[in-house]
Amino acid sequence: MNQSEFREHARRLSDARRLIVKVGSALLVDAKTGRIHRSWLESLADDLVRACARGQQVIVVSSGAIALGRQHLQLGAGRLRLEESQAAAAVGQIRLARVWQEILEARGLAVAQVLLTLEDTEDRQRYLNARATLDTLLRLKAVPVINENDTVATAEIRYGDNDRLAARVAQMVSAECLVLLSDIDGLYSADPSRDPNAQFIPVVTELNADIEAMASGPVSGVGSGGMMTKIAAARIALAAGASLVIASGRRSSPLRAIEDGERCTWFLPSVTPRAVRKQWIAGTLKPKGSVFIDAGAARALMDGKSLLPAGLLKVDGNFERGDTISVRAEDQEIGRGLAAYSSTEASLIMGRRSAEIEGLLGYCSREEMIHRDDLVMLTDA
Ligand code: GLU
Repeated sequence: MNQSEFREHARRLSDARRLIVKVGSALLVDAKTGRIHRSWLESLADDLVRACARGQQVIVVSSGAIALGRQHLQLGAGRLRLEESQAAAAVGQIRLARVWQEILEARGLAVAQVLLTLEDTEDRQRYLNARATLDTLLRLKAVPVINENDTVATAEIRYGDNDRLAARVAQMVSAECLVLLSDIDGLYSADPSRDPNAQFIPVVTELNADIEAMASGPVSGVGSGGMMTKIAAARIALAAGASLVIASGRRSSPLRAIEDGERCTWFLPSVTPRAVRKQWIAGTLKPKGSVFIDAGAARALMDGKSLLPAGLLKVDGNFERGDTISVRAEDQEIGRGLAAYSSTEASLIMGRRSAEIEGLLGYCSREEMIHRDDLVMLTDA
């Protein structure tokens, strides 16, 4: 594949509404001195600023806490016991967050630290809470810098690698593109440092057994992930409709390099995040409740608008924020969507203008009862 073809693929990065960039420890922290590669990080920050300036919402998933902390605590180069790596993470995370803050704030971006555990992404209620927080941060134009909460994540319940964590985050926020910056520039058919015939794989559209086999060898023994966790991340990302790219971070301005058509491996999904989300909503077997809406609201929904509290006539059933509910007009189910308010809250704001929500509930998390991105229409008439 030539440079202009790579450049063409890179539009997935520059056109993504939501972009996740994962940075591995080996890129951020010098293994010998334990120092942060600051000028490299600054060049990446310039790339992120450019993405934000063109209206993209950006999330960073940054490793490096353990690498920084182990150096500071002089824990040596060998394998750490779990409690030592937790201690190292506690010491390192504070430094990691500070450097991201300094570098991004110097460029006019607000920075938010978000530490997640496996349970935050697997338990439905916590998943919804984390998603709502990330949505809010992005809406407020802050850049979330995410890491695993290593200090509390014990062996059985931890990701241990940020590749899969980043993919789950991409899925959580319906991101269109996930960039895994690594010390290798992509996927090879065999270990390129051992096999001179190793072929570079520029594009993957299907994660079949051949691809798994390529990743299972010691293709890239770096970080805690290596190629195996990157393929596992690709599996999650593709199912969520996100493109994933493995690219080299061993050069400055790594995102610009991808956009300029430097070689990297693209994993391409066959669906969009929006379609995946809508399919999931439409496929809910048992909605938790219903809202009955007036004719004006029904027309607005047909035109692709969101459902506002003003259009609600009646609320049925017991549902929580984030549950799938039926939307009914004249007793016919015309759509399904994710409730932005619980049934109790919905009963209080029913028929009222969005501006009144705060006065009625004491807070206002959204103007809509169901946002149009969370709504699927079941009839065309
Ligand atoms: N969460 C770990 C850290 O910040 C890194 C995990 C990984 O290397 O992917 O040190």
